[in-house]
Amino acid sequence: MASNALRSSAALGGGVLERYADWLPLSESTPCITLGEGSTPLVRAQSLERATGADEVWLKLELCNPTGSFKDRGMVVAVAKAVEQGASAVLCASTGNTSASAAAYAARCGLRAFVLVPEGRIAQGKLAQATAHGARVLAVDGNFDDALTLAQELTERLPLALVNSVNPYRIEGQKTAAMEVVDSLGDAPDLHCIPVGNAGNITAYWKGYCEYFHAEIASRRPKMLGVQASGAAPLVLGHPVEHPETIATAIRIGAPASWKGAEAARVESGGEIIAVTDEQILAAYRLLADTEGVFCEPASAASVAGLLARHGGGSLVGQRVVCTITGHGLKDPERAVESISADLIEIDSNYDDAAAAIVEGLG
Ligand SMILES: *Cc1c(COP(=O)(O)O)cnc(C)c1O
Repeated sequence: MASNALRSSAALGGGVLERYADWLPLSESTPCITLGEGSTPLVRAQSLERATGADEVWLKLELCNPTGSFKDRGMVVAVAKAVEQGASAVLCASTGNTSASAAAYAARCGLRAFVLVPEGRIAQGKLAQATAHGARVLAVDGNFDDALTLAQELTERLPLALVNSVNPYRIEGQKTAAMEVVDSLGDAPDLHCIPVGNAGNITAYWKGYCEYFHAEIASRRPKMLGVQASGAAPLVLGHPVEHPETIATAIRIGAPASWKGAEAARVESGGEIIAVTDEQILAAYRLLADTEGVFCEPASAASVAGLLARHGGGSLVGQRVVCTITGHGLKDPERAVESISADLIEIDSNYDDAAAAIVEGLG
């Protein structure tokens, strides 16, 4: 693999492999690939500060990653290690974003990509990404949990690198988001809110915060608030859910692979894992779009829905909060059109009609 061709321009700050090399399990022969992942914006959300009483609420905009979700941080490490180990193909099970990311990084590195998706339950934009990058997409007659079991069986017998978050390199890459938060704020926040599906990301953030704490780069660690959808809340119920249901397809998972990691994050941080309804998720989804200018996918809004469900009464005075916004709203255009009613105002093509409609809107 001609790793020079895969290198980023250092002048642009590099990607996750370059910026966090000291914290990642890289070797001399790991290719330094990148699509420009990481270095995502951290922006204030004043509507959420007003609602919760917190001094500061920050949104970590992981939807700004190259394929539109945080999955790129972990995928760049997993695919680089697959290249290093001589793999010629990668495989994942996916609710959508993992496959979009795997397909993109595989395309960049000249690997074949195979993805298993739950039939009929994957947002159109994500499917379009995977196919655009030339992945072979297999629609499994089952849910995500069935697809992941199948993926594990396949990679045991066929020459494929498994790039789901059961691959420890994914967690390693994803932990860099927590490190970036500390690098930006100068310390860890008091509370970190994050959606939980397969639970790899909450595991990764906790690992990142702990590593920075032990290296004395952060003076403390946040409480972790993990948020599941009420129809897919195994970690809240304490047992797997056989038929998970939620409009937030990225967290529609009944048997999280990183169950233990999520539990450890909750217990060690003195935090919580809670469930919110689809109605609460959609309310947060609209609020973010309407008042903060942030258009995320429904699963991403779960972190904000959880923050409001727990602290909407204004109990966070004096605190600093970060919410991870995991994926982009454009990935799920059908949901957007359904739940954000597109009220088109039809007018004739003349000044008076246009001006009248605008004056009405200003009023
Ligand atoms: C993957 C994903 C999640 C869930 O992350 P886990 O690591 O599976 O808990 C949440 N939101 C989006 C947009 C995702 O793509």
